[in-house]
Amino acid sequence: MTYDTTHLAADFIGYLKNIQEHAGHQPHALKLARDLNMRVRIGTINRAYPEAQPNPVLVVQPWYYGNTWMLRHELAHVMLYWSGLEAEVIEEFGSEVGWKVIENLCQQAEAFLLITQPMVDDAVRRFGVSAQAVRHLQKLSGARPEVALRRLIYDNPHAERAGFLMSRDYVTEVAQCNFGLPFGWSEKVSKPAQLFGSDARLTFTRRFGLGVGVVGW
Ligand SMILES: [Zn+2]
Repeated sequence: MTYDTTHLAADFIGYLKNIQEHAGHQPHALKLARDLNMRVRIGTINRAYPEAQPNPVLVVQPWYYGNTWMLRHELAHVMLYWSGLEAEVIEEFGSEVGWKVIENLCQQAEAFLLITQPMVDDAVRRFGVSAQAVRHLQKLSGARPEVALRRLIYDNPHAERAGFLMSRDYVTEVAQCNFGLPFGWSEKVSKPAQLFGSDARLTFTRRFGLGVGVVGW
């Protein structure tokens, strides 16, 4: 942990991964909350109370109770608080901008809490950092394609890699980690492979109109 905001995302991802390892890489949100001694309650708003005594409380609306992305989001808030990074962000950015930064971090964390490190390691061992690995992560976790894509691309914040999703000829999602794609979200791209140099390690698959592309290693 550097507590330097340049490394904020990397610090938080590293911290999350340590907790997940400690908790045996439990992918089920409700079980993970219980294993970490958080109390999950039903309420009218979704909110985390990391400072509650004797241990943190997560409140979710009835339809989010269980293994849901909302519970993962609230879990991430407690973890960010535990890490000390929440206080750091508020101190550096003030509460108005700071809470937006905190929301972004907790949204990113949802993919990490659903798709655990052993799943990513298995996918990369079989398929490398590739479009096929994204498909494999979807199969292992039941995640939506954009969640599996982000989880793979941001797994190592220091790597140079990027990925994208396409619906027919349109780019519907981009994830870039130290690597800039030659096109952006919502652009029309007929043949993505032609836009990369011959030395770029691009993998691309298309099935049922949904294209997945990954470049990097
Ligand atoms: Zn939130």
